[in-house]
Amino acid sequence: MDLLNINTDDNDSNNNNENEKEWNELLEICEKCKKCELHKTRRNIVFGKGSTNAKIMFIGEAPGETEDKEGLPFVGRAGKLLDKYMFNFDFNLENIYVANILKCRPPNNRDPVESEQESCIDYLRLQTKLLSPKIIVCLGRIAAIKVIKPDFKITAEHGKWFKKGDIYITAVYHPSALLRDAPKKAEALPDFKAVREKAVELGIL
Ligand code: URA
Repeated sequence: MDLLNINTDDNDSNNNNENEKEWNELLEICEKCKKCELHKTRRNIVFGKGSTNAKIMFIGEAPGETEDKEGLPFVGRAGKLLDKYMFNFDFNLENIYVANILKCRPPNNRDPVESEQESCIDYLRLQTKLLSPKIIVCLGRIAAIKVIKPDFKITAEHGKWFKKGDIYITAVYHPSALLRDAPKKAEALPDFKAVREKAVELGIL
């Protein structure tokens, strides 16, 4: 498989879609995946959406019912709210890429268990390598724990910046949490604004 030989230092190949073959290859692998039990109940895998040339990557938790039905991330109620924040700060599917920790829906939208996350995380790692983002935004606690650090506390640490290699990483409240707890919406605004400012500072927006 070519994917494991991706040269992530080669920025040209990331900028001009030369890695389209690898993206398609990875998609096909995910579509056939049976690494965990979730393949038995999925209707569709939810691979990702947005631009494969984007330098900003948003990472959610796992597909819900609507995502499972449509095969796209963040198209249900939480997605509609996320779209409002995106629109407000000029993020769109041409300048961002969106994926989840899990590609398949956990039954009844329960939290993904550790073994499911471990089975799936290499696919997200490969997506990240192919994309080579400069900014990663974790949507919610589960993504932040997996991507930033195991003891991440979303209430205390949302909006804070971390750096891994050349990538700036932050976490914002998950849009589902904002739907459940409306007062948190005010806290989410400066976090999204900070993402926009970081993107402008880095010259990627
Ligand atoms: N919640 C997520 O974390 N991801 C989705 O794609 C939809 C809802």
